[in-house]
Amino acid sequence: MSKQSKYQADEKGMYGRFGGAYIPEMLYPNIENLKKVYKEIIDSPAFQQEYKALLKDYVGRPSPLYLAKRLSDKYQTNVYLKREDLNHTGAHKINNTVGQILIAKHMGKQRIIAETGAGQHGVATATACALMGLQCVVYMGEVDIKRQAPNVARMKMLGAEVKAATSGSKTLKDATNEALRDWICNPEDTFYLIGSVVGPHPYPDMVARLQAVISEEIKLQISEKTSKDYPDYVIACVGGGSNAAGSFYHFLDDEKVKLVAVEASGMGVDSGETAATIALGDMGIIHGSKTFLMQSEDGQITEPYSISAGLDYPGIGPQHAHLFDTGRAQFLSATDKEALDAALQLTQLEGIIPALESAHALAALNKMQFQKDEAVVITLSGRGDKDMATYMERFGF
Ligand SMILES: *Cc1c(COP(=O)(O)O)cnc(C)c1O
Repeated sequence: MSKQSKYQADEKGMYGRFGGAYIPEMLYPNIENLKKVYKEIIDSPAFQQEYKALLKDYVGRPSPLYLAKRLSDKYQTNVYLKREDLNHTGAHKINNTVGQILIAKHMGKQRIIAETGAGQHGVATATACALMGLQCVVYMGEVDIKRQAPNVARMKMLGAEVKAATSGSKTLKDATNEALRDWICNPEDTFYLIGSVVGPHPYPDMVARLQAVISEEIKLQISEKTSKDYPDYVIACVGGGSNAAGSFYHFLDDEKVKLVAVEASGMGVDSGETAATIALGDMGIIHGSKTFLMQSEDGQITEPYSISAGLDYPGIGPQHAHLFDTGRAQFLSATDKEALDAALQLTQLEGIIPALESAHALAALNKMQFQKDEAVVITLSGRGDKDMATYMERFGF
């Protein structure tokens, strides 16, 4: 990746007119400290060696790039699935948490804090903390704690302390506030582990670098499997945008590769029950970063809705906002219904039950046109075990 890429963050963490670090003054020292060291740590041989070894032997990488033959027949093209669902813990999130834990360790931090909505990032964080023997505190809205009992139990079994956020709507944004308050109070020993390409600089860039292993592998694998060394399309779902950012990373400056991001539109973009941030297109500041977000007339962040917990986020990472702005990536959206249909189709054509999040990316196949000889890579961000209750209810199994 060339340093001058117009799609990467500049020194201030700006992607075009998006990004930056809009944070309370009390957080400056923590953010400045992280900003100073993160690139040096990631690029160091010691980090790279340990990170690569854990990705291989603990996470189970490289994840396969699988040519889905029956799905390809149906769409008259070549559909390859990047199998992040086969990672340890069943999704791409572990690439990031293992990486950030190692960065925390290099910084001499003893205590990890995180916030979680549905609990998937909390579980991935608690997993990495157990692996490294670090103290783990996960903030979670009181409402989400009740809704996501199995993930709360997983975190506890992994040794994490789950703290309830009891203010506001008692969901993700309230948990975020609590985590930030904790970090302000404990700047010395505590590392704040963010789960997607969101938050103040340097988080979006740091998380993208850690997820970039996805596109690094795709590039190699596609050249082994086809006569070209690039795919024609890379398609991924976007909540905050980390699996998409990792899937796009090494292709950003190769404009032959068409990048497609799929948001969750819930009951429909204009239904009021949606998480299609880009489609709604309002700009503002969320989680310390200037980007597109969902807000009311008077600028209050509104509750998003999607059937898939991982896409149920009212913002989007600043790099994606910039990729939309510049036209480098195409943004589509899929409704709950379209995602459910796509999940069932993949299951019955390929014997793979996808996460509901990933099913949104699969739904893009019905919205696009491909040539017979093209290579279409879809990132299967996670497996569907966690969504079985929803599938049972919606399909009546
Ligand atoms: C959390 C999650 C997502 C959404 O997060 P991104 O940061 O947008 O990748 C997508 N898929 C799965 C399986 C998830 O767990």
